[in-house]
Amino acid sequence: MERLVCVNCGAAYPADEILYTCTTCGHLLAVEYNLDTVTVSKKVWEKRPLSVWRYRELLPVRIEPVTLQEGGTPLYHLKRLGKEIGLSRLYAKHEGMNPSGSFKDRGMTVGVSMALQLGRKSVACASTGNTSASLAAYAAKAGIPAVVLLPAGKVAVGKVAQALMHGARVISIRGNFDRALEMVYELCLSHGLYLLNSINPYRLEGQKTIGFEAVDQLGGVPDRFVLPVGNAGNISATPGARVYRCNPDDDRHPGSRLNACR
Ligand SMILES: [Zn+2]
Repeated sequence: MERLVCVNCGAAYPADEILYTCTTCGHLLAVEYNLDTVTVSKKVWEKRPLSVWRYRELLPVRIEPVTLQEGGTPLYHLKRLGKEIGLSRLYAKHEGMNPSGSFKDRGMTVGVSMALQLGRKSVACASTGNTSASLAAYAAKAGIPAVVLLPAGKVAVGKVAQALMHGARVISIRGNFDRALEMVYELCLSHGLYLLNSINPYRLEGQKTIGFEAVDQLGGVPDRFVLPVGNAGNISATPGARVYRCNPDDDRHPGSRLNACR
């Protein structure tokens, strides 16, 4: 059984409590699993298609997930670029091949599924682009309303169009992204919408499957992960790969060999 644990003070909370930050110190929460209770074997996993839900035993969702077949993205061997910089085994994972066109879909399939599991009837986020498009697509699939707050004039038009096409209620506000996030947070607390920005601990659980897939596609843990980061949520992919190793004798530690590029 999993629980929520504060990354700063270690306070623990039940997994079914709707919480976004620690009520003691205000820091972010992480999902903690009891890995001793995960009994599925790797052979069973290997029979499933490469996707977020191949790894469902290492995710918090216990209902039928809201899925658009996310994950399973290609891993390209970059031979020419690798030759140029002296790396014969350089690979890139193409996360733009996810259903709404971004890696956010991995977190959103888990986040929107958790919204239903926790009994929420609507979802919301603040976003200037990919998050809103992804949230709207998964809310449409789940058949629940989505609300997106965005800072007026500071958005990717194509992405907002995606959110609108999927039926989200898009509200522009005066102020920057941080103000939009503050307002959507207040809205969620006061009106019971489920907040699906990256502070939601369950969103990051979906993101970690990038690491799982990379390990499966490579047949082992890579020497180094290089990640683009905004709020750095994708760093969750590397502890993920550490938990999930192809070879139990391979104790390399990708989390300590991580380059995050902003
Ligand atoms: Zn705390």
